[in-house]
Amino acid sequence: MVLGSDQAELEADLFYSGHRLTKLRKALINIFMLRRQPLSALDLGPLLKTRGLTPHKVTLYRELDFLEDKQIIQKVDLADGWQRFEFIDRPHHHHAVCVKCKKIEDVELEHDNADLEKLIKTKNNFQILRHTLEFFGLCGECKNV
Ligand SMILES: [Zn+2]
Ligand SMILES: [Zn+2]
Repeated sequence: MVLGSDQAELEADLFYSGHRLTKLRKALINIFMLRRQPLSALDLGPLLKTRGLTPHKVTLYRELDFLEDKQIIQKVDLADGWQRFEFIDRPHHHHAVCVKCKKIEDVELEHDNADLEKLIKTKNNFQILRHTLEFFGLCGECKNV
């Protein structure tokens, strides 16, 4: 299923494929579309609360699984034990994570990892379907402190 990239279209796609559009579901889609950055359940809590929603943790995770399954959001693993998700409809990119203030910036690489993938393909006889690559360090503000 190819999903639309604006919220109304996306919701219509879900609706017509037989899915319910709960308040939580709509709020999450909206938050991920607006924020365009990796968000954990911990980040989502307060954002949902300002919209009058306080879902149980289990409900929230189930909903995130649903949105991931429908390829609306994707998992981002920043190796700190937190499961984060971000909106999927955007160019392929990586992240630079500040280990001090936890700020997450997008990183787009001109040739991405084409050379590296070619190397892995030849050396390991491995067909790569996708990759994730995140960088950890200090952001401009934190490195000068
Ligand atoms: Zn920082
Ligand atoms: Zn890449």
